[in-house]
Amino acid sequence: MAVLVLDKRKKPLMPCSEKRARLLLERGRAVVHRMRPFTIRLKDRTVEESALQPIQIKIDPGSKTTGVTVIREDDADPEHQQVLMLMEIEHRGQHIKDALTQRRAFRRRRRGQLRHRAPRFHNRTRPSGWLAPSLQHRVDTTMAWVNRLCRLAPVTGIIMERVRFDMQTMENPEISGVEYQQGTLHGYEVREYLLEKWQRCCAYCGARNVPLEIDHIHPQSRGGSDRVSNLTLACRDCNQAKGNQPVEVFLADDPKRLQRIKAQAKAPLKDAAAVNSTRWALFRQLQATGLPVITSSGGRTKYNRQRLGIPKTHALDAACVGPVTAITHWNVPTLTVRATGRGSYQRTRLNRFGFPRGYLMRQKQVKGFQTGDLVQANVPTGKKAGTYQGRVAIRATGSFNIQTREGVVQGISHRHCRLLQRADGYGYALQPKPTQEDATRAA
Ligand SMILES: [Zn+2]
Repeated sequence: MAVLVLDKRKKPLMPCSEKRARLLLERGRAVVHRMRPFTIRLKDRTVEESALQPIQIKIDPGSKTTGVTVIREDDADPEHQQVLMLMEIEHRGQHIKDALTQRRAFRRRRRGQLRHRAPRFHNRTRPSGWLAPSLQHRVDTTMAWVNRLCRLAPVTGIIMERVRFDMQTMENPEISGVEYQQGTLHGYEVREYLLEKWQRCCAYCGARNVPLEIDHIHPQSRGGSDRVSNLTLACRDCNQAKGNQPVEVFLADDPKRLQRIKAQAKAPLKDAAAVNSTRWALFRQLQATGLPVITSSGGRTKYNRQRLGIPKTHALDAACVGPVTAITHWNVPTLTVRATGRGSYQRTRLNRFGFPRGYLMRQKQVKGFQTGDLVQANVPTGKKAGTYQGRVAIRATGSFNIQTREGVVQGISHRHCRLLQRADGYGYALQPKPTQEDATRAA
């Protein structure tokens, strides 16, 4: 993984290799600026003295995890790309939703407990483009990281997967005859389109979460066309059972389903079906950064990934977004960034009925540490002897818990802890690089 570099005025320079960073630190030419993502600051250079190359941030937005990759484009061919950093942002939308539901329930109980209080008149309006807090959080955390990366690296552009399939490349698939061909970019777009159109299940038996094959409703051998309006998705069993029978014969004893399939095959899908509201909101905010934003489709991402034989992870999916002919240096560890929040304002802990159960401390710090800080503890003697690195959870007694990669280590004294990085609302972990097995499975 590349190391991010700043100049002496904290302006971003080109990222360097781990080896170079180690040498710079050993010779005293640089200092550590940040632990996660690892960033160094040169003491003797400014940005004007060095040449910058084009660096892009690639984003694959997801509901639970968003993949973010920083790549360097080749000077001669921007489609030859070198991965500098792989990152996965784990959102906490479900946590936010649960917290709000619980708050609503507590308030409801308080309102009804002694005397009835009528609910207030519904006098609030939502601005246009409003998103539920759990969805807005996804946009906000992704934007926070894009902005942070722009401060740490000389980013020149953003590439984002905005839609599942690209209607423009299909040119009105239902009407004009498009040739469907397996294994081409076009084939992947058609597949994503069909998945959306047939709700990701087998058209003949309704099976979900099984591998789906593309089936010609009017069989090819009987002169059926390759147009998208003649294609559907079927599980392996149904596809085999149907063979080259006409659909009317195959579904002779289920006229209802036959009717529905025929109607659905004719109805074209709207382009909007491929974009959800969060992706739109993210796209608009990315545009507001002033950097050029290129958008791409999920079909193209999948096509790139399978063609280049790259395993499927969120971060590597992000690396495959957009026009790509070759990707190098992708086999590196991934930095997982978990959105943890910065603690709670509420100082009273409640039981599940909403009655007070205990109280939190007034102050957020104990002995100079705060929950969420990244610390290193060197315990010299005793049962817990050893070195631990991770996120700390503080206690008023000064005996802390440390969340390491192996698990929680309890009862570490503050005297043994050394601060590495202040809490910033995220928990960090390094995931090992994908094994050869993963790579071959994907290919
Ligand atoms: Zn089936």
